[in-house]
Amino acid sequence: MATYANIDAFVTKHLLLDLTADFDAKTLRGTAELQFERRDPRATEMVLDTRDLQIWRVESAPPGGAWSDTTFRLDPATPAFGSALRVAVPAGADRIRVTYSSSPAARGLQWLTPAQTAGKKHPFLFSQAQAIHARSFITLQDTPGVRLTYDATVRVPKELVAVMAAEARPGEVGSGVFQFHMPQPIPSYLIALAVGDLTFTPMSERTGVWTEPAMAAAAAREFEDTEKMMKATEALYGPYRWGRYDLLVLPPSFPYGGMENPRVTFATPTVIVGDKSLVALVAHELAHSWSGNLVTNATWTDFWLNEGFTTYLERRIVEVVYGRRLADMERIIGLRDLAQARKDATVAGDRTLLPALSGRDPDDAYSVVPYEQGALFLSFLESKFGRGAFDRFLRRWFDEHEFQSVTTAQFLEFLSKHLLSTKPGVVTDAQIQEWLHSEEVPGSAVMPQSDALEKVEQARDTWLSGGSMDALAKTASAWSTQEWVHFIDSLPRTMDTGKLAAMDQRLKLTDSPNPEIAHVWFRLAIANRYRAAFPAMERYMIAIGRRKLIVPLYRDLAATPDGKKLAAQIYAKAREGYHPVAQGTLDAMLK
Ligand SMILES: [Zn+2]
Repeated sequence: MATYANIDAFVTKHLLLDLTADFDAKTLRGTAELQFERRDPRATEMVLDTRDLQIWRVESAPPGGAWSDTTFRLDPATPAFGSALRVAVPAGADRIRVTYSSSPAARGLQWLTPAQTAGKKHPFLFSQAQAIHARSFITLQDTPGVRLTYDATVRVPKELVAVMAAEARPGEVGSGVFQFHMPQPIPSYLIALAVGDLTFTPMSERTGVWTEPAMAAAAAREFEDTEKMMKATEALYGPYRWGRYDLLVLPPSFPYGGMENPRVTFATPTVIVGDKSLVALVAHELAHSWSGNLVTNATWTDFWLNEGFTTYLERRIVEVVYGRRLADMERIIGLRDLAQARKDATVAGDRTLLPALSGRDPDDAYSVVPYEQGALFLSFLESKFGRGAFDRFLRRWFDEHEFQSVTTAQFLEFLSKHLLSTKPGVVTDAQIQEWLHSEEVPGSAVMPQSDALEKVEQARDTWLSGGSMDALAKTASAWSTQEWVHFIDSLPRTMDTGKLAAMDQRLKLTDSPNPEIAHVWFRLAIANRYRAAFPAMERYMIAIGRRKLIVPLYRDLAATPDGKKLAAQIYAKAREGYHPVAQGTLDAMLK
């Protein structure tokens, strides 16, 4: 279950945080008050999750009563889950308060120096709690099976702004004190904080974007369709329940594409490419406001209930706002990513929709399999029952489970009752079991097709069999990011150096400002030992910390002895700028 919390005995209902961000010491310190409900009247000890925290004091209090010190013990840490904090809870107490501080190496936080930001003047801090990193900066019951509301006071240097994934209470600008309130019950992995030189640019009544000042205009332009996406999603799946929907653009070291923190998605700057071709990321994070944040996987094995649903929803939103052509390209690219993830998996169960996580840090099993296999599963169901009926079914699923944490078994029961039974025999139990447990895409899948990507393949074949560079360049001038990525990714891994150099010179690939295009180009360059691209690749790997964009480059390099040497040299320079999560992945790979 990836938690030490004894939620059979106590369950947290509300959290009160009072934290100070100390950039010199790289620590968050202060108090976390947990107001809980007793489930077992005889229980005398509450167990909380922590990782690398210093615990200074623990107090307890009865309803409305005074605080008094209580005893506690911190168990030895395990690599997968950290340390259990065991707190003695007197009879009658309904709250405890822990005074603590986080470690400078807290896995859920990244402390950036001014040099690592766009503005270069102020430091930056951001949190990333999913899957089980909230425990590295808050003492709590760190499991998606528990939902809580919270209030927070965050104290920061006066020139900086704090943003949490919650409602901001009006405060005094420049006071260095920010207050937040989260009225909807959320799982702990959705608690989020960012502190930096942040400015807000509104995009509509209820959407806007937080960025460093230098990026404000470009970000607001790239994401201007966010309101349209919200309307499209509401029309399909019911009202948006979280008030505002803002985006917060992080520095490039953010290890993920996006994180669906409620009310304010945290996003990588690597999707700001000028032509909105990568805003499916916003559709994805927005979709989590239904699948994930509203209806939440109860355990990390049920992760596909978050990500498979969201990937399916994302492409439906893209279809409404940008058209079928882009959605289908995304589906094809997803299918290819799925095949690659299955190849890369070292544990067989990780190739299925339901990875076995017992004793493992959920991050170790992380892959796109739950995303893409899950989305294909839902597309299969859609094809069998019709889009209208399936949309109504999904909306009902969200409505009837709002603000609840759910298991795969609950979904299957709901599916059987409200969809399968409407047309008995159309989908068999054996088919459902195959979708859940197969290490491959089941034969019953509806495979996506994309004319646009087929045309890219034709252009590729024409050029490879002697067609002119001019003709290729002319066709390519109209390509979106997806078409470029497909073209480069589908070129043979062994090519004539002259042909690569000619292509590079004409299509400006080594110098591409688009991080997705540069990524696939560098992989082709590594495969061909096309060294002219390596200096730019090194700069890219130092500047960007998004795992999806850098980890495959390190892996490709590490496959040969000289490549491994180069990977180690680059990593020595880049490591300090990476997030602890990316450092963990790469330390293991390059050791
Ligand atoms: Zn997601």
